[in-house]
Amino acid sequence: MEQVRVASFSPLLLLLAPNAYGRLIGWSGLSLAKTYTQVHPDVDLIVLEAADSVGGVWAAHRIYPGLRTNSILGSYESPDFPMSVEKFGVKPGEHIPGTVVHQYMTDFAKTFDIWRRIRFRTKVDEIKQAGDGKWVLKLTTFHSNNEKETTDTKSITVDKLVIATGVTGNPNMPDIPGADTFGAPLFHAKEFLQQKELLKTANKVIVYGGSKSAVSIQDFFVFQGGLFPFSILFKDGEATWLRES
Ligand SMILES: Cc1cc2nc3c(=O)[nH]c(=O)nc-3n(C[C@H](O)[C@H](O)[C@H](O)COP(=O)(O)OP(=O)(O)OC[C@H]3O[C@@H](n4cnc5c(N)ncnc54)[C@H](O)[C@@H]3O)c2cc1C
Repeated sequence: MEQVRVASFSPLLLLLAPNAYGRLIGWSGLSLAKTYTQVHPDVDLIVLEAADSVGGVWAAHRIYPGLRTNSILGSYESPDFPMSVEKFGVKPGEHIPGTVVHQYMTDFAKTFDIWRRIRFRTKVDEIKQAGDGKWVLKLTTFHSNNEKETTDTKSITVDKLVIATGVTGNPNMPDIPGADTFGAPLFHAKEFLQQKELLKTANKVIVYGGSKSAVSIQDFFVFQGGLFPFSILFKDGEATWLRES
C-alpha cells in the first residue's frame, strides 16, 4: 500500500483542482488530502499538523472575536462543499467570519473522511531523503495530561511527501529600535487571542501595519465595545484593504 504524508501544501493545489481556481485559495493540506484520497481510496495517508485544530490561519487558537475574512460568501469555499446559508449563516455579499471558516474546514475534513487521518499536535522538525526515493521525517508530538505538557519524538519513513505549511504562518516581526526598553507589551497579531486579557486593561493601542491583520484588529476594538484611541502606522504605502462597515 502506498504511503503518503501531508504536512500541508500550496502550489500543487491548482494542478489537482483546476476548477477551483480563484476559489480554493489555500486550505491547502486539507484540499490536497481530500483530492488525493478520492483519486486513490486505498492510500495510507496521514496529515501531520503542529496545531491542535484544523485551519492554519483559521485554526481555533488564531481566531479572536470579530475576526472576519476579506472574502465574501462564495469566494472562499470548495466547489463540491458549498458554504450554504442554511448551515453556516453567512448571507450573500457578507464577509465570512473567521469562526465560520474554522467550522467549515472542520466539517470539510470530517465530511471527506480526512479527520481520522490527521495527527494533531505533531510537528515536523526535519525532513531528509533516505537515498532510496523515500523520505525520513523527524516528528515531535505534544501531549497534555492533567495540565502537564510532555513531548515525544520519533522518525517515520514515507514514500511520498507533500509540504503544505503555508506562506503566512511565520510572523514577520519588524525590528523596532528601542522596542525592548519601550515599557509596554509588544506582540505580533498572530498572538492576539492569547493576549486578550491584557488587552482588556489597555487604554491606548497602536497597531503597526496597514493590511489585513491591522484592519481586523481595528475591527476588534471598534466592534467589541472597547473603543480606544489608536493609530495604524503604515510602513510603506497605504492600507491595501479596507472594508465597508
Ligand atoms: C492574518 C491573515 C488573514 C488572511 N485573510 C485572508 C482572507 O480573508 N481571505 C483569503 O482568501 N486569504 C486570507 N489569508 C491568506 C491565507 O493564508 C490563505 O487563504 C490560506 O488560509 C492559507 O492556507 P495554507 O494551507 O496554504 O496555509 P496555512 O493556513 O498557513 O496552513 C499551514 C498549516 O501547516 C501547519 N504547519 C506549519 N509548519 C508545520 C510543521 N513544521 N509541522 C506540522 N505542521 C506545520 C500549520 O500549523 C498550519 O495548519 C490570510 C492570511 C493571514 C495570515
